Amino acid sequence: MIPIAKPLIGDEEKQAVLEVLDSGMLAQGPRVKAFEEAFAAMCGVQHAIATSSGTTALHVALLAHGIGPGDEVITSPFTFIASANSILYVGAKPVFVDIDPVTFNIDPARIEAAITPRTKAILPVHLFGLMADMEAIQAIAARHGLVVIEDACQSHGASLHGKRAGAWGTGTFSLYPTKNITSAEGGMITTNDARIAENCQVIRQHGMRRRYYHDELGFNFRMTDIHAAIGLAQLHKLEQFNAARVANARYLNANLRGVGVPTTPAGYVHVFHQYTIRVPDGQRDALAEHLKANGIGFGIYYPVAIHQQTYYTQQLGYNQYLPEAERATEEVLSLPVHPALSPTDLEAIVAAVNGFMEGA
Ligand SMILES: *Cc1c(COP(=O)(O)O)cnc(C)c1O
Repeated sequence: MIPIAKPLIGDEEKQAVLEVLDSGMLAQGPRVKAFEEAFAAMCGVQHAIATSSGTTALHVALLAHGIGPGDEVITSPFTFIASANSILYVGAKPVFVDIDPVTFNIDPARIEAAITPRTKAILPVHLFGLMADMEAIQAIAARHGLVVIEDACQSHGASLHGKRAGAWGTGTFSLYPTKNITSAEGGMITTNDARIAENCQVIRQHGMRRRYYHDELGFNFRMTDIHAAIGLAQLHKLEQFNAARVANARYLNANLRGVGVPTTPAGYVHVFHQYTIRVPDGQRDALAEHLKANGIGFGIYYPVAIHQQTYYTQQLGYNQYLPEAERATEEVLSLPVHPALSPTDLEAIVAAVNGFMEGA
């Protein structure tokens, strides 16, 4: 069985964890700070704040910008649920704007029609490792005085015109084991704004600016030194991991037949968190069955758009028609692209997909 995702944990990560365990400083030691500094450098920003997950990174980033009840935040309906749920956590309302069918990312041409006097922020998601059109999104945000929070949970190291994900607005990253790098569980917020960085630090630590003085409501959303040690060792391998993902994607693009393969628009570096194809003519689920029978792991990211999730329709009353996002949920299928794939694995993936599509 070729898995859809596989974290690559080496001796560096194991050694780093043992050093933390031996140090006696398990929670807030020097590694969280070292990981934050290295992560900020990777993104090309001034500040990074480590959190307990990508979801808490999004939650803290929204709070740090003062977004709350009565506010609207524009985001993509075609993403992992945390992108939108984090907006609900702060009491604001997610407003969904349909996606571009080529990139799977929020379509900037449709954003302005969704802006109201209550709109506070745009929260684009850089899905599957390809950044959203941040030049267009930043221009819209500047015109309307809106905050930009990037959900870069799938795009560590991705860039547009040389500027990395997380460097355009307030960036949020996940370090879950399936992501391009992992700390087991973990998250990171990136920003060039010292005031936002300080807000994030305070919110993740019980709203505490002075020890045991709590002037605002905060949380325990901290990262431990054990997780930071793993994340720091992984960060050193990010460029190498991403290069392997890009090479695997290039091989698949050159060899797959009969399916829609991912494209990388000019100016973008795609880091292929997922390698997502479109399967035409209602054959997606049959191809999935065929892959399963042939030992090829795959994922359907995502089978339901967020505005169609039961909680959103039944509890929140969403009743929107977003044709591109809805069509994507019926056609997408993600194939293994991770750096642990061997040449034989790649050949087996191509043989299984092409064998099905040619026979269909
Ligand atoms: C993984 C992911 C998250 C949440 O990250 P966790 O670390 O699992 O909390 C949020 N948004 C997107 C797009 C993701 O892929």
